Amino acid sequence: MIFEDFPRNISVDLLGPSGSPADYSRALGAHTGLEDPTMLITNGTMVTLGEENQLLRDGALLVDGSRIAALGATDELLMKHPDADVLDAQGKLVMPGLMCSHTHFYGAFARGMALKGEPPSNFPEILEHLWWRLDKTLNREDVRYSALVCLVDAIRNGTTTLLDHHASPNEVAGSLDIIAEAVDEAGLRACLCYEVSDRDGPEVAQQGLRENERFITEVSGERLAGTFGLHASLTLSEETLAQAVEMANALEVGFHIHAAEDKADVNDSLKKYGLRVVERLEKAGILGPKTIAAHCVHIDAFEMDILRETGTNVVHNPRSNMNNAVGVADVPALLRRGINVGLGNDGFSNNMFTEMETTYLLHKLGQKDPRAMGADQVLRMAATNNARIANLFFERPLGQLVEGAYADIILVDYVPTTPLDVGNFPWHLVFGMNGGQVSTTIVGGKVLMKDRQLLTLDEEAICARSRELAQKVWARM
Ligand SMILES: [Zn+2]
Repeated sequence: MIFEDFPRNISVDLLGPSGSPADYSRALGAHTGLEDPTMLITNGTMVTLGEENQLLRDGALLVDGSRIAALGATDELLMKHPDADVLDAQGKLVMPGLMCSHTHFYGAFARGMALKGEPPSNFPEILEHLWWRLDKTLNREDVRYSALVCLVDAIRNGTTTLLDHHASPNEVAGSLDIIAEAVDEAGLRACLCYEVSDRDGPEVAQQGLRENERFITEVSGERLAGTFGLHASLTLSEETLAQAVEMANALEVGFHIHAAEDKADVNDSLKKYGLRVVERLEKAGILGPKTIAAHCVHIDAFEMDILRETGTNVVHNPRSNMNNAVGVADVPALLRRGINVGLGNDGFSNNMFTEMETTYLLHKLGQKDPRAMGADQVLRMAATNNARIANLFFERPLGQLVEGAYADIILVDYVPTTPLDVGNFPWHLVFGMNGGQVSTTIVGGKVLMKDRQLLTLDEEAICARSRELAQKVWARM
């Protein structure tokens, strides 16, 4: 059977308004033999990324189950695997799925929302007037649909691995299971955590600690993982940090925390503890090679050295930093020190192409130097550095097309108008590519979107319900 033929049938038989997503994902498995699949992607321009990026024209890639089994010339692999289902890339780029190392699905309903009163004039006001009001209104169905709309968006933009940071203070217990279920239905790969904070009182803080512990203990499956979430220094007491460290150490996991996003975090830490944020977190035992510190905008050279010495991962979120006007993280300096800096979106659209473009632009302006932050550096952050972070949670290689890696693959419908080679690929990406060109998204060998048509999620139904729920959330706020 030619793989190319099935979506047309699927669209008639299985994507109708009556079928639930679960129904048609089961049926999809039956139609394509996904229980025991080998799929051959042919006629693609393979962009392997990884430590040594390669560009192979007329390339083919064999997927066996959830992993990449072989890479080679189309003719050669077609001859070797005549029985495999063929997915003809028709000359498109075949790339590893993109990754987002810091996001907040729970923020999805903020899109287009009008805030009453004066517009927030600084970061603490943004937190208090927007995010800490929104998160408190979320019920269990809101949590589910906030996640689902982000997952639809991620599939559409070819973002296949996401590290989410969740808050719903009035629905803490079990909230990560709701998100995990949505991720599972979508077919994406995600690492989840609950953002522990003292901002809603000691009881909610305790619930957050327990939710992380419970989820990390219970999470299962090749595409799901958990880590220990913490909000930020400015909303965490010494006691709560100590408790979190004890729990995380027992579970042998690290943390996912916001660090020095705004000056307010630094001022709070200096005032209460006489330490800058990174110093405080290091003293508390939060930092280390399994820990992700998002932002790190307001840190000094001494703190950068601490991040390097502890092997802590940093995640840069340029669109968010610009939107909140918190400042420009000195990412070039962090990279020069050898710190692993990945890329996240902090709840912006799950279009990592745009996040890369923004990274490329921001640091040139920030340093007033057009040589700052080459596209090759940006791509390394998004691919290699994000893969290092993702591989804290997922066993097989990610972010590269290599034998043995997870078959997380995207097809990008990009027609270069100037010569394209391995050396200038990052500049083609930054100047010419975007998420809307992703035609096909595959995760763990399973096709989630084919020719822009979603196969696991019912996008229309999800968006319709999301609009209804968002309206109610806005009214409650
Ligand atoms: Zn964040």
